[in-house]
Amino acid sequence: MNSFQKLSALFAEFPGIGPRQAKRFAQFILHKNDGYINDLASLIKEVRKSMIMCTECFRFFEKNHAPENLCEICRNPNRDKDLLTVVAKDVDLEHIEKSHSYNGYYFVLGGTVPILDEQPEKRIRIRELLKIVENKVDKVDKLKEIIIAMGANPEGENTAQYVKKALEEVSAKHQIKLSELGRGLSTGSELEYSDADTLKNALKNRS
Ligand SMILES: [Zn+2]
Repeated sequence: MNSFQKLSALFAEFPGIGPRQAKRFAQFILHKNDGYINDLASLIKEVRKSMIMCTECFRFFEKNHAPENLCEICRNPNRDKDLLTVVAKDVDLEHIEKSHSYNGYYFVLGGTVPILDEQPEKRIRIRELLKIVENKVDKVDKLKEIIIAMGANPEGENTAQYVKKALEEVSAKHQIKLSELGRGLSTGSELEYSDADTLKNALKNRS
């Protein structure tokens, strides 16, 4: 494989990018000037150094001087401790934050589970989620509800089902309500593309 092919292969690993688009990206790189290429190469390295994963919700955030690796949401004691919302990706979390209709905590699964997938535990952080929930039930301010916030598409619904099942035991034992977003979201849509009002209603009409 030459370097062009190698680069194309790397781009093809990006989410939603097929081999043809990956090749177009590599072509695009060939046409850019040195300044752009240097910025791109150094930013790719820098972003990995400056962004770290929160040990509580697993989202990426900019490293700060806080002693523990907790993001500003997980560190904020004034958020609603009754609520935990489970999302697939970082962008979904950011999207809910921007809608200003939720003040609880979050957990990022890191992906979704395709239908009929045989090893869902390798696709999403289900073990970590169970651990976090177990930790939260021991606290004085008890967790009362887990909102499973997935996109209104088959893969999102499949993921929600799987997460619900995995949480069944712990939620029954500790009287934690498991809810899902109301179907105000248009069918087939990804959470990250729904507008703030729709999201607000979906959160309000959760069941
Ligand atoms: Zn966090």
